[in-house]
Amino acid sequence: MLTSTAVGAYMDELLATAGTPDYPNALNGLQLENQSAIRGIAAAVDFSTRAVQGAIESSANFLIVHHGMFWGGLTPLSGPTYRILRMLMENDIAVYSSHLPLDRHPTLGNNALLAEQLDLTPSGLFARFENIFIGVRGEADIETASLVNSARVFANDYGEIRTSRILPGRRTKRWAICTGAGASADTLHEASAAGIDTLIVGEGPHWTAIHAEEHDLAIIYAGHYATETIGVRALARHVAEKYELPWTFVSAPTGL
Ligand SMILES: [Zn+2]
Repeated sequence: MLTSTAVGAYMDELLATAGTPDYPNALNGLQLENQSAIRGIAAAVDFSTRAVQGAIESSANFLIVHHGMFWGGLTPLSGPTYRILRMLMENDIAVYSSHLPLDRHPTLGNNALLAEQLDLTPSGLFARFENIFIGVRGEADIETASLVNSARVFANDYGEIRTSRILPGRRTKRWAICTGAGASADTLHEASAAGIDTLIVGEGPHWTAIHAEEHDLAIIYAGHYATETIGVRALARHVAEKYELPWTFVSAPTGL
């Protein structure tokens, strides 16, 4: 019988979960086990009622998410938290979450795959977190506007993209990617130090757009949700192929 703990252990190995630092609430790995044999995989960006419903509708009993069950911190098991847990238990669904281990994975990760989607070839790593790098960077010689367009096409299914002010004719020569909440004091500092002229992220605070304009940096905010749809899909496909199981992606855009 294919158990959730066996699938979880395989994924931990694949993603180097044990050796990857993360925020405590990420709690990477198998977050909820189940009892029945795994018969189908569902993937979603966020652990949510929509994600669990999507898993149930597709008869999947192993749910893979990027932002897991404990993302929001300590909370009593009452109200919506109780209801979602009950829904999982009644349908015997296991939950596996992978945050930074998935962000940084060289072939299944959000960052490597976003570069591929935008036709960019990484030549190095970016966005240091403790002893690891989450993102990627590289060189190009393209009009920044055309990169913005590629990002718009990529994110189209999930929402609008935004950018800092970009002057006509501006070119991108050194780019970096950090998906999700990728525009921060740390990444902007690192971008300056590495001579990055174009930063592609999911989202960032308002001040980052001003900082960008002042430092002749272009920031493309392609959506926190959109930029993190690709890793969970690739991971679910990989695991489903390994165990010859059906898999599905549950689309539940957050609007951000
Ligand atoms: Zn995220």
